[in-house]
Amino acid sequence: MFGRRITLFKLFGFEVRIDLSWLIIAVLVAWSLAVGFFPFRYKNLSVQTYWGMGVVGAIGFFLSVIFHEVFHSLVAKKFGIPMKGITLFIFGGVSEMGEEPPSARTEFLVAVVGPLSSIAIALACYGFHILGIRGGGWPLPIDGVVLYLAYINSLLAAFNLLPAFPLDGGRMLRAALWAFKKNLRWATRIASQIGSGFALLLMFFGVFQFFFTGNLIGGIWSFLIGVFLQGAARMSYQQVLVRKALEGEQVRRFMKSDPLTVPPSASVRQLVEDYIYKYHFKMFPVTEGPDKLIGCVTTKQLDGVPREEWNLKTVGDLATQCSPENTIEPQADAMKALSLMARTGSSRLIVVEGNRVVGVITLKDMLAFLSLKLELGQ
Ligand SMILES: [Zn+2]
Repeated sequence: MFGRRITLFKLFGFEVRIDLSWLIIAVLVAWSLAVGFFPFRYKNLSVQTYWGMGVVGAIGFFLSVIFHEVFHSLVAKKFGIPMKGITLFIFGGVSEMGEEPPSARTEFLVAVVGPLSSIAIALACYGFHILGIRGGGWPLPIDGVVLYLAYINSLLAAFNLLPAFPLDGGRMLRAALWAFKKNLRWATRIASQIGSGFALLLMFFGVFQFFFTGNLIGGIWSFLIGVFLQGAARMSYQQVLVRKALEGEQVRRFMKSDPLTVPPSASVRQLVEDYIYKYHFKMFPVTEGPDKLIGCVTTKQLDGVPREEWNLKTVGDLATQCSPENTIEPQADAMKALSLMARTGSSRLIVVEGNRVVGVITLKDMLAFLSLKLELGQ
């Protein structure tokens, strides 16, 4: 679902990342504004002016979404929910929560500040516009962009308030259902079913706009947002199922003991031929004796070694300290292992106790367990 991400900057300690899909969206937004929205509302400006307004408007939209997400993150942090950062992708942003909120009340508060912050920007922009009128009017292009930002932030607030999980309104609904029946799984199921329903409606509406009203751009937008919402609703429900299934399970339960390790004395050529080509893993633990961990060696580190030196250099020369990204303790929560894999994109983690390698845990084994557990209905 998520493609490549680029980290843009840090805000209040949260990393703001951008999914590559967002670059396409940013261009689409600037284009829709420059050839559709602004020329329709303001006649007789030059093409350059429309494009200038389009680009500034798209940047303003982008900053508005960040503002909205940062408020979610700040409130979540206040309640002690670990936040992994903010990623902008497809439509709008996602604040990535490390875990489910601890209570219905917390979930409600974290959700509600997003739309509130968008309404605040909309009001501020509208206030700026009124101020301009009092003072004789801002230059038209500036006024146009400011009014657009007032409009788009109102739309952002309204859209996010739809009771369609995982949108903010859907989260508020889930919080209410959760408080009512004290069952997170049930609340999530109902909220995401309603979310799917809204998504289908949006897709139909998009098709209708496209073919019957001639609003091509609007139709494409509605359809795309519907598709996105549909996927997000399904994914969020699955996430809750997985979390519930793995709750209380330790890494120890899924790990294979007696993992494959490389001695530091092996040459780089041996590493390539006897390990990498044979097992196709991207990372190997380097151990002295049977299980004393002295470092990790990854296929990436091979890039710096010219082929002529493969016989001369040893794995010990290459190995670096293992990072918390590819190691985990046996008593850690299985969910933690799964999130770590999702975040780093690696499907194998070394299980380490003190400085001993005790096993390896793979995504495949965890998924096998999950599918069994879900099939059995628990
Ligand atoms: Zn939000």
